[in-house]
Amino acid sequence: MELRGSGIGSGIAAGVVLRMPEPLAPASDAPRTGDVETETSRVGAALDRVATWLSQRGAAVGGEAQAVLEAQALMARDPAVTADIKTRIEAGDNAERAAYQAFASFAQILESMGGYMAERAADLADIAQRVIAELRGVPAPGVPESDAPYILVAHDLAPADTALLDFAKVHALVTRDGGPTSHTAILARAKSIPAIVGVAGADDIVNGTLIVVDAGASTVTVDASPEQVAGALERRAALLNASSAPLTEGALTDGFRVSLLANLGAPDEAAAALALGAEGVGLFRTEFMFLDSVAAPSIDAQQAKYTELLTAFPGKKVVVRCLDAGADKPLRFLTHTHEDNPALGLRGLRALRANENILRDQLTAMANAQAVTEAELWVMAPMVADAEEAAYFVGLAKELGIRVAGVMAEVPALALVADQVVEVADFVSIGTNDLTQYTLAADRTLGSVASYHDPWHPAVLRLIKMLSDAGSAAGKPVGVCGEAAADPDLAIVLVGLGVTSLSMAPSALADVRAALLTVTLDEARARASRALTGRSAAESRLLGSR
Ligand code: PEP
Ligand code: MG
Repeated sequence: MELRGSGIGSGIAAGVVLRMPEPLAPASDAPRTGDVETETSRVGAALDRVATWLSQRGAAVGGEAQAVLEAQALMARDPAVTADIKTRIEAGDNAERAAYQAFASFAQILESMGGYMAERAADLADIAQRVIAELRGVPAPGVPESDAPYILVAHDLAPADTALLDFAKVHALVTRDGGPTSHTAILARAKSIPAIVGVAGADDIVNGTLIVVDAGASTVTVDASPEQVAGALERRAALLNASSAPLTEGALTDGFRVSLLANLGAPDEAAAALALGAEGVGLFRTEFMFLDSVAAPSIDAQQAKYTELLTAFPGKKVVVRCLDAGADKPLRFLTHTHEDNPALGLRGLRALRANENILRDQLTAMANAQAVTEAELWVMAPMVADAEEAAYFVGLAKELGIRVAGVMAEVPALALVADQVVEVADFVSIGTNDLTQYTLAADRTLGSVASYHDPWHPAVLRLIKMLSDAGSAAGKPVGVCGEAAADPDLAIVLVGLGVTSLSMAPSALADVRAALLTVTLDEARARASRALTGRSAAESRLLGSR
């Protein structure tokens, strides 16, 4: 059987499915029916199994993760927890409820202590979930654990889940939800693993099924035959060969230069980006480092990360984005309230402005890192809507010592007043993922509207033209750092529209570099002009791809 979705990148993988377990239903609050002794010993045995599993897992993975898992095992064995659970069972709670409440009350104590202790509160919630799963005899929720390689199938993945995945084991991702610019897709590109998102039939793929994931063809072959697996492995070998072209600087065939930069989410991704020929960093997503943090990171902790990043790129441009919290990237210390439409809620610069102390700390940490490293640091704000917001951000960044400060163009409003914005910002970086979402009113995380979320749409291309025209009139650089830059045909059109740099997941650099080398600047401009006249995304793609 063949299923279809949106393929991310061009990779191919074959392997056995492991599904992301379903979230657990909340602990039942029905009164206890069993006797105290039986219920207490049931929880005791569950705690013991969870602690043993955590220790064994720690020993298997080693390194920093072992220390974290050992600490969790100790928490599960803490006599104070066992005593609290027993008291609650004696007072009438059922086993699940007693375990849930006991861990929740210890988590509350840790949270009130703040700092490192507060960070551990989430670990207690995780142990409680594992204990409840043991009591019910169902798989524990969260990222599955396996010692063998597998293909992960899920409804969708939260950024916090994906941060925990072991990519030495996960060979491909398949999700029911999500569009090509969802954060699952971004992560898959960053890790260079094939992914297909928005696969309608993904819920019917069961654990242990052999599947072939072909991201280039956007297909998932379920219950693949040995011939289909062999064919997939052959195509994968051919792809690997093709990506070994020389790592030249980005340029068109007539020599017109276009910087090819990398999108990164952690300093330790720098080496791989450089190995793939990145000329610098066009987007460093700082919020990815703090998805699990309960409290705002300190200046020192941030400074260490930025220094590590900048040190990897001496003499090169590194564009760091201030925390983009909100929508599908909530940060507990920045976005507190529930919002029905979080993509239209308090996110990006709006959330930072409402918590200016956090923004000041972040800019200070960046300025300190800038002072002790040789990279050319550029700093930008996410989700800026107009020149007043741009002036606020640029003013604050300069006050705190940042030399080059700019804004992301992700809200259509910013493109409509681009001439005013480039008067105050040093540069503009176009986030086509959000710009497309907001222009076409199509949630980037929703499979059902994924076909509407297409950066080839002429409305999006026209906004990009307005931005690059304003930049060129004012002599200010305008780059693209959304996923559109990773589409080789669209990359040519973007250059034709006047953008000055392209930033993408490092795994996309080779294909884009090769595509740029096939056209002159005049040809790129001609393609861009044609694409602008399309009546739909599909027509613009057709007109702009040749
Ligand atoms: C974008 O919106 O295009 C972008 C680059 O930012 P993010 O994908 O992190 O929202
Ligand atoms: Mg964005």
